[in-house]
Amino acid sequence: MNMHRYVYPVSCNEIPAIPPSAQVPAIDVHGHYGIWHSSDSTRALADSFASGDGRTVVARACQAHTCVTIVSPLLALVPRGHGQVVAGNDEARQVVAQTEGLLQWAVVSPLEPRSFEQAAELLRLPQCPGIKIHPEEHQYPITEHGQALFEFAAEHGAIVSTHSGEQNSLPADYVPIANDFPEVTLILAHLGCGWDGDLTHQVRAVQASKHGNIFIDTSSERSLYPKLIEWAVKEVGAEHLLYGTDTPLHCAAMYRARIDHADLSLTEKQLILRDNAVRLFQLERTTLCQD
Ligand SMILES: [Zn+2]
Repeated sequence: MNMHRYVYPVSCNEIPAIPPSAQVPAIDVHGHYGIWHSSDSTRALADSFASGDGRTVVARACQAHTCVTIVSPLLALVPRGHGQVVAGNDEARQVVAQTEGLLQWAVVSPLEPRSFEQAAELLRLPQCPGIKIHPEEHQYPITEHGQALFEFAAEHGAIVSTHSGEQNSLPADYVPIANDFPEVTLILAHLGCGWDGDLTHQVRAVQASKHGNIFIDTSSERSLYPKLIEWAVKEVGAEHLLYGTDTPLHCAAMYRARIDHADLSLTEKQLILRDNAVRLFQLERTTLCQD
């Protein structure tokens, strides 16, 4: 019988198996909890895989060495066109208050006027740093309702996190609105997500921003592309990227590994994983979040 060679390449010894950034406790700015409903009833099994309660989300965050996950309730977002925004926000207020490791996005829909008043109340709580908007699940074009949403965010000092990359939520359509509201921090979700396959939508929006107030989160399955994160850092700087996972829809630890193993400096990884979020959300470091 032939023996085959089993040799570890010497050059691999130069790369640590566990990158130093893996020690950095992360802040995940894009999470959810609850039950996922796609519009397609044949996807029941996949929908069950994408669902998870608050405790599940925190357990997955721990696997990804993540100390805080900012979540929005799936009840408020799906099924498409039928999210229960007000009920979802009420539920999230309770779940987040009872679950260490979670903060809350208040979900606002311009088609649900009560959600503005509700968000104004939630934003007074330390557990709620901003609003989540989703023009695709709530079915409205941002070009029609962006002005009102940003006026609200400016008035209440809220960070805005938005789904982005599809036709109702094109990153380019947010640029003029963000330019009119320099005091509002906007996070475009899903680096690389584009309805047309174009990976550059979010990056181009940051580049077109006049005041530097547009940021991007990394929660896109496009992160599977080996050079996407690195390219985005080269184009807009690590200061404009925030760690996001879309947990529990996606595996949080996979996104974490993507950053830890990126071809980036430790400082750049720290900015993405934690330091940008600490600065933007003015988070106080708890013992949970120390190195
Ligand atoms: Zn999401």
